Amino acid sequence: MIGKLFVLSGPSGVGKGTVREKLLANNDINLTYSISMTTRKPRSNEIDGVHYFFVDNDYFEKAIKNDEFLEYAKFVGHYYGTPKKHVEELLKEGKNVLLEIEVQGAKQVMEKCPEAITIFMIPPSFEELEKRIRGRRTESEDVVSQRLSKAKKEMSLKDNYNFLVVNDTVENASKAIHDIILKMTK
Ligand code: 5GP
Repeated sequence: MIGKLFVLSGPSGVGKGTVREKLLANNDINLTYSISMTTRKPRSNEIDGVHYFFVDNDYFEKAIKNDEFLEYAKFVGHYYGTPKKHVEELLKEGKNVLLEIEVQGAKQVMEKCPEAITIFMIPPSFEELEKRIRGRRTESEDVVSQRLSKAKKEMSLKDNYNFLVVNDTVENASKAIHDIILKMTK
């Protein structure tokens, strides 16, 4: 049986990564995460091949030319993309695959894979989002304000998605997504 493709989007800082980790920790929904490739530098806690495949610009642009991505986008000055081959293999193996990607990439997936189930995660308020992005303390003020203005634009695209989930707490949001995946894979 072929697995289902799920797309999780939402503004930077909304907590997609934390919710995704919780979902995968208690995994009774046959879910796998597709590791993305990026040209962004790793944060201090990030490991190559676990959080992302960290590559340089040349490597990424060659992969674009070779049509290796299901989708890719530039986000705040860096490339991010989903390697196609791995996702296809996982789906063929019958696994449900989760892509945690920003809105431009999600749009490409909606066009290429109309059967994909799309989820948009929103913060309880914009103030809370700002607090979360600043609380991370890993980025310069310049990058923080770029991410915040990007978040406003991203939020306006939420109606393009099949499901909307509010991340008020990690427990609530991961349970809501868990239930969506369960329902859609029955
Ligand atoms: P961050 O730098 O905070 O890890 O990620 C920045 C944004 O890029 C987040 O919204 C994240 O979901 C998104 N992102 C991560 N991987 C991919 C990917 O493979 N493709 C696209 N389009 N966006 C991604």
